[in-house]
Amino acid sequence: MATDYDAPRKNDDDINEDSIEELKSRRADKQSSNVDVDETEAAEGFELPGADLSGEEMSVRVLPRQADEFTCTQCFLVHHRSQLAGEGSSGPVCRECAA
Ligand SMILES: [Zn+2]
Repeated sequence: MATDYDAPRKNDDDINEDSIEELKSRRADKQSSNVDVDETEAAEGFELPGADLSGEEMSVRVLPRQADEFTCTQCFLVHHRSQLAGEGSSGPVCRECAA
């Protein structure tokens, strides 16, 4: 019985010590990994929901429009002129969006 009682107590002490050590190291980890997560999330957030404004910014910045291309004002994608369906109220609209 003494051993049965002793074993869990020892574990408790170990867990407490571990958790303190873990907290310390986790806090350090958190600070360093937070930077990574923030950077990754920022990069992903820029690309994934990019259908709206950020998408327009990116296509404008990364893909300078060619003379025979246009940027659709509906989907903000750069299309070849052959895909041009017409001019909308705010600018050119591609066939996919006009359909
Ligand atoms: Zn379009």
